[in-house]
Amino acid sequence: MTTTQSGKINLLGLNRQAMQDFFATLGEKSYRAEQALKWIHFHGIKDIDAMTNFSKSLREKMLTVAEIRPPEIAFESTAPDGTHKWVIKLNDGNCIETVFIPEKTRGTLCVSSQVGCILNCDFCSTGKQGFSRNLESAEIIGQVWIAARSLSENKGTHDHAVTNVVMMGMGEPLLNFDNVVNSMSIMLDDFCYGLSKRRVTLSTAGLVPAMKQLREVSDVALAVSLHAPNDELRNVLVPINKKYPLKELMRVCKDYFKDQPRRYVTMEYVMLAGVNDQPEHAKQLIALLKGVPSKVNLIPFNPFPNTIYKRSDQATIDHFRETLMAANINCITRKTRGQEIDAACGQLVGQVQDRTRRIERLQKRALKQEQTADLQSAS
Ligand code: SAH
Repeated sequence: MTTTQSGKINLLGLNRQAMQDFFATLGEKSYRAEQALKWIHFHGIKDIDAMTNFSKSLREKMLTVAEIRPPEIAFESTAPDGTHKWVIKLNDGNCIETVFIPEKTRGTLCVSSQVGCILNCDFCSTGKQGFSRNLESAEIIGQVWIAARSLSENKGTHDHAVTNVVMMGMGEPLLNFDNVVNSMSIMLDDFCYGLSKRRVTLSTAGLVPAMKQLREVSDVALAVSLHAPNDELRNVLVPINKKYPLKELMRVCKDYFKDQPRRYVTMEYVMLAGVNDQPEHAKQLIALLKGVPSKVNLIPFNPFPNTIYKRSDQATIDHFRETLMAANINCITRKTRGQEIDAACGQLVGQVQDRTRRIERLQKRALKQEQTADLQSAS
C-alpha cells in the first residue's frame, strides 16, 4: 500500500478492495469505500474534509492515518492541434509526462508507467533517458486524476473528457505489473472513471510471461510494439526480442483473446525509412500475422535528437498499408499528434534520474567517435 512522505496511506492509489480493507480497519462498512472512491475519482477532491456525507468523527479518524496526495503538475502545454501535455513532478524530483489527445469522438489519455524505461528500443527517446524506478499506483492513477480534473475545470476547450486510456507513455507497463493492473482496475471501476475494458489499452514491447499473467487478471485491450516482421531486425529495434522471440510472442498473441472472438490484438509498427518499410517486410508481416487475430497500427516515426532513423515517406506508408489490407489485415495509420510540444509517440522523456548510466555511456561513446573522426581528418 502506498504511503506518503508523512507516513500516511495515500487513498488515491487504493482500488475498491483495498479501500474496503482500509475502511474495515476503521471499523466501517464497505459501502464507505464506494463513497470515498466516488469523492476522489469522480468528484476529484483531495481534501478528506470535503467528503460531506461522512461524519466529522469519521473524517477525523481518516485524517489521522490517510490523505489524498496526487503528484504535482510541474508544467503543461497545448499543441496547435489541441494535444495537451502535463509534465508531472514526483516526490523524489523525477518528472514523468502524460498526454491528452482530443479527437472528434473521443479523448485519449496516454499514461506513463515508469520513470524512464529499461528496454532501450533503438527508435524511442524514452529509452535513451535511462531508467529510474517504477511508478506507484497513486502516481499512475494520479495522472488520470489530474487530467480528468483539469479537463472538467476547462470544459469547453476540449470536446471530450477522458474516454480512453492507453498505457503508452513512458515505461514498460508489464515491468510494473501490480501497480499497473491495480491502476487499470481503478480506471474501469464504475465508482471511479467507469471506462470500458475496450477503451483501456495496455501496450507492451512483448514480455511473453507477463502477457500470459495479464490475461488471467485483466481484460483490458492489448497492444504489442511489434515494429519488425523478423527476429533479425526485431533484435535490433526491440532488444527484448532476444529474450522473447517472435515465435513465442505470436503464440501468446494468437491465444490472447481466444475466448472473446471479436477482440483483436493491436500490432504497433513504427515506420522507419528503409529499415522496416519495404515490400518484403510487408510480405513477411502478412505471413507472421496469419492466424493471429490482430489489427495493425502503422506509426509514422517521430524523430528526436541524435537518432539515426528517419520517417518513411507518405507514399511508402500508404503502399505498406494497402499491401496489408489486400491480404485482409485490418490496418490504419496512426495520426501524428502533439509533435510541436514533444508529446508524440516515443518523444516523452520527462526528467529521469538515470540509474542505468545509459546517458553517460552514450555520451562517452559519442565523444570517442568524435575524437576518432577528428584524428582521421587530421591525418
Ligand atoms: N513499452 C511499451 C509502452 C510504450 S508505448 C511498449 O513498447 O509498447 C509507446 C509506443 O510508441 C510504442 O508502440 C513504441 O514502440 C512507439 N514509439 C516509440 N518511439 C517512437 C517514435 N520515435 N516514433 C513513433 N513511435 C514510437
